[in-house]
Amino acid sequence: MKLKPLGQWICDVCGEVIQSPKDGYVQWNRNLNQEIDDFVIVHHFSASPKNTIEMDAINMIQIQT
Ligand SMILES: [Zn+2]
Repeated sequence: MKLKPLGQWICDVCGEVIQSPKDGYVQWNRNLNQEIDDFVIVHHFSASPKNTIEMDAINMIQIQT
């Protein structure tokens, strides 16, 4: 699949394409030293193809372009 650079992303939870920055969130985890050790890109729940909540309520920010 060919994606539009900085316009579309693959969701790490459901595997579908996130069509627009406003539909996606970057979410990260911190390790015990409070360093960011992992991150995922997921759908906002209003854009989730399966209407599921893919985000935790912490450590997230809307995709910025
Ligand atoms: Zn998703």
